[in-house]
Amino acid sequence: RSKMDGRGKWRFFEPAMDANVQSRRALEVDLREALEKDEFALFYQPIYDLRKDRISGFEALLRWQHPKRGMVPPDQFIPLAEEIGLITALGEWVLNRACEQASSWPNELKVAVNVSPTQFRDASLANVIANALDRSALAPHRLELEITESVLLGNSTETIATLHELKARGLRIALDDFGTGYSSLSYLRSFPFDKIKIDQSFVRDATATKGSKLIVRAITSLGRSLGMTTTAEGVETVEQLNQMKAEGCNEAQGFLFSRPVPATELAITILSLRNGLKRSDLSRAIAS
Ligand code: C2E
Ligand code: MG
Ligand code: MG
Ligand code: MG
Repeated sequence: RSKMDGRGKWRFFEPAMDANVQSRRALEVDLREALEKDEFALFYQPIYDLRKDRISGFEALLRWQHPKRGMVPPDQFIPLAEEIGLITALGEWVLNRACEQASSWPNELKVAVNVSPTQFRDASLANVIANALDRSALAPHRLELEITESVLLGNSTETIATLHELKARGLRIALDDFGTGYSSLSYLRSFPFDKIKIDQSFVRDATATKGSKLIVRAITSLGRSLGMTTTAEGVETVEQLNQMKAEGCNEAQGFLFSRPVPATELAITILSLRNGLKRSDLSRAIAS
């Protein structure tokens, strides 16, 4: 098939590309209606405090239960939601739902919410957060925002101001997927983060590759000297957990502890981690 382009010339598309464009369009149409149709849900993955030997909170991870496609993973629709201007509304839904659900958890548990770059730059963010906290009566210190390094590109004066404003309200800020973006170490000095989340690619390789191990070591020691908590993402094996403990990580998160679960399974997840840890390899790893 072919199509007239803007300058009146015929452009030819590969059939495969055409199919991609079409399926993207179809996804876009569905995504625009998904909020109204109530097709989104939050799953939660525990974040484990290695020193206190207990769950410190849960990260909210967005799921789209599409009636025909099944579960669409966030990597497939969040970039699209950003592009078509839906991320602000979707992000607001996530913040409201996460605060509402977390307000029924025990007080010592925090909730971490991912905030996309466009959502972070939106002028309404502070109000959206204030509303979500008001409605749910969740204490602000129990809400942690996860942002990625790409947020820090753009206008840094404005970004720093936003971060300070959110922190002044009592929220905590985590730098997600650290080490994968356009990181400059000076970011860590200029921005008031409470936490650095070490990307799972380093965690995965740290038991096999010396380079990754040294990167994890460097990040944890940097975090320590800057007074920031460090969290290892994507911990899948006891070996990786031991490695992360040896490097001085404060927290760990990953399939070893639990996959992300629906809100209705939080209590059972907390219980099974508590009991499982008493007997399993995991407890030996954590106690060592
Ligand atoms: P993220 O914030 O870095 O979240 C961690 C991702 O790693 C999650 O994927 C989680 O399921 C996965 N994961 C956790 N432990 C393990 C493990 O041991 N092994 C492996 N292989 N993977 C593990 P998920 O849920 O597919 O989310 C992907 C990304 O989508 C997130 O990365 C985050 O950037 C984005 N995302 C998710 N929910 C939201 C949201 O509500 N808003 C925004 N803006 N982004 C979101
Ligand atoms: Mg995250
Ligand atoms: Mg991450
Ligand atoms: Mg990620």
